[in-house]
This record gives sequence, C-alpha cells and structure tokens, in this order.
Amino acid sequence: MFNKQTIEDIVVTDKRVFCRVDFNVPIDKKGIITDDTRIRAALPTISYLIGNGARLILASHLGRPKGKHDPSASLAPVAAYLGALLGQQVIMAPDCIGAETAALAEKLESGQVMLLENVRFHSGETDNDPAFAAQLATLADVYVNDAFGTAHRAHASTEGIAHIIKPAVAGYLMQNELQYLGSALDNPQRPFIAILGGAKVSDKITVIEKLLEKVDSILIGGGMAYTFLKAQGVSVGSSLVEEDRLTMALDLLDQARKKNVSIFLPDDHLVAENFAADSPFTMVCNDQFPAAGMGLDIGPQTITTYQKQIASARTVLWNGPMGVFEFDAFAKGTLAVAEALAASDCLSIIGGGDSVAAVNKAKLQDKMTHISTGGGASLEFLEGKALPGVVALSDKE
Ligand code: ADP
Ligand code: MG
Repeated sequence: MFNKQTIEDIVVTDKRVFCRVDFNVPIDKKGIITDDTRIRAALPTISYLIGNGARLILASHLGRPKGKHDPSASLAPVAAYLGALLGQQVIMAPDCIGAETAALAEKLESGQVMLLENVRFHSGETDNDPAFAAQLATLADVYVNDAFGTAHRAHASTEGIAHIIKPAVAGYLMQNELQYLGSALDNPQRPFIAILGGAKVSDKITVIEKLLEKVDSILIGGGMAYTFLKAQGVSVGSSLVEEDRLTMALDLLDQARKKNVSIFLPDDHLVAENFAADSPFTMVCNDQFPAAGMGLDIGPQTITTYQKQIASARTVLWNGPMGVFEFDAFAKGTLAVAEALAASDCLSIIGGGDSVAAVNKAKLQDKMTHISTGGGASLEFLEGKALPGVVALSDKE
C-alpha cells in the first residue's frame, strides 16, 4: 500500500524545493530531444509546485557520463525545451553543486524554476556518497522525488538526499506509478491476466513467480516462450533457448498448475531462417518446427487465442513484446496484443521499456490505462522488491 507523503501533504509556498525528476531523454547529435515522454510525465508535479509558489530546483541525470563533466550529456537542451513547454524561463545551472549554483538557488523567487546540470557529472551520485548528497541538500528546504524510473537505484539524488532534507515526499508521477502498479497487484478486478514476453526467461523468473500468486492466467510470448516449449519437449529449432533454465521452466509450469493459474504458450510461430529484418520466414505450428528455423514472432492462431483472453480480462499487466518487434515482419504479435488492449475496457498497465516503445510505435498510448515510465523500476516493484528511492521518503502521518 502506498503510504508515503506527497507534495499535497506539505507546504511548498516560498520554499526552495529540490525535485528529482527523470529527464533522461534521448537527444540527437544536433541537441534535438527525440522523445519528450519523460519530460511531459513530470509536468503535473512541476506545474503544481510552480502554481503553489515554490522556488523550484529540478535535478536529473542524463546518460552515463561516468562522474565527469561531459558537454554531450548536458541537460541544457532540456532546460530550453521545458521552458518552451511551461511558457516561462528555466534557468540552467552551471553544475548541480558549488558556489555559483548555490547563489542561483538562493536568488530563485517563488514560481521560478532552475534546472541543475547532470547529477552524474559527479561520481558521488551513483556512489551515493553522503558528502555529495549533503552538498545537494544545502540547496533546498524540501525534497520531492518524481523520478520513478530511477527509484530502484540508491543514488545520492534519489536516496541519500532524502535522508537529509525532510520532509521528503513523492510527486504525482511517482504516486501514480506506485498506485497503479500497487492496486493491480493488491486488489485487481478479475480476471487478472499477465502478458509476459521479451527476450529471456531469466530476466523475468522472479516476476513470474510473484505473479503466479496474483493472476488468473499468464500469456507467454517472445523469446522466453521457447525455453518453456522446449522444456515440454517441443522442438524449437534454433530459437532463443536458455538451456540452463529448462528445469526451472518446468517447475514454474508445475507451480502454476498447483495454484490454478492457466499458462498459455504459443501454438504457432513465424519462423525465420536467420535473425534479420529481411529474413525469409514461414508460419508453423508447434509440431512442424524446422530444425534450422528461429521463432521470431507468435503466429495467427496464437494471436487469436491471446486476443480472446484479453477481451475477457478486467485487469491486464503487460511486460515484454511478443516477438522481435524491431523488425516490421515480426511485429504483428506485439501489435495485435497492443490493439486488443486498446480495444478492451479493462484496466491495462504496460511496463517494460520495449513494450512501452511498441505501444508508442503503434500510437496506442492514449488507449492504455497506465504506461509506466520506468522499465527497470516497474519490474523490481513487480518482483516485490523495495525501491530505495521510495523507502527513503517520509511516511504519511
Ligand atoms: P521489456 O523492455 O518490455 O521488458 P525485454 O527487454 O525483456 O522487454 O525484451 C525485449 C526484447 O526481446 C526485444 O528487443 C525483442 O526483440 C526481444 N525478443 C522478443 N521476442 C523474441 C524472440 N522470439 N527471439 C529473440 N528475441 C526476442
Ligand atoms: Mg527491455
């Protein structure tokens, strides 16, 4: 249950508010932001804080500059972009710590916004160095964490600082993410279905085990399906199989049977000669798999079965594409799942970077109930792990 204080629980007016956001957006060589999803996702919190007269200091990381100042990882393009979205100036700080930045923070007036330079220009950020966190903390009176995407990392600006500045509270995005994911798990409308795909079983074993406690059915697709099929004796040619997980796959199927959870595996596939966008491919059922063929997408029969399941569900959690959707020829299964979810009035929650990318590519993002902005963080949450960036926030009174 979400029991942390939020921005609505505290006074922010005239306060210097340090707000950790996730502005880790893709920026091309010309400095153009090619996907602004994460910036827009932080707007409700930013607008609330500005509207309530906070002196707003935003902080984020961008890329992996490895503790050194790297102009190609500067957040300056984001300051300009955010300024245009907000219709007001966003002051770009020269750094995230130091005298010059401190002076700018001191001068900030109510309703003004400043963006700190990339916190990962200092190794103290990822090291969660207490001295670095203390330096960040000198800038502000209140701490807000709205960076769900990095909540699974204990870094100085996501965790360390929250022990120094109190109150430390959640922003709207953080609150939304935790409430949607949390209520799906704690109190789902049934039937509750999980759709799991992606490359490997090993990435998602803990999630599958946790979900077996919660869901009515699991639909499996993508590369991980082949380890399950092979474990059951199906020949899967040269498909992606994790040989060292075959026993585990059988054990998961057994656990599912005992818990009365139906597990669906693909009955048919698009099988390619090689792993390439333009590879010749055929459509085969489980008993016809060619020895040299590689399953790169679920087939039409499986699509029909999965669509029917989705149509009858009240809650659906989706993590991981049904095939190699990066290649258009093998994107059909993933698109079909996205379309079935869009057409259904179930509560749909999409987590996982690649599944979200697939939904965006199909332009169906507005038809989903909730799209998580944090692939890694949402997986760890679903695995039942505590997220350090959340744990460190002040509890509700
Ligand atoms: P997410 O980011 O949504 O959690 P993953 O990162 O676990 O998803 O997996 C996504 C990757 O899985 C994609 O790059 C996709 O190409 C790959 N994938 C899906 N199906 C297959 C398959 N049949 N064989 C090999 N790779 C696959
Ligand atoms: Mg991924």
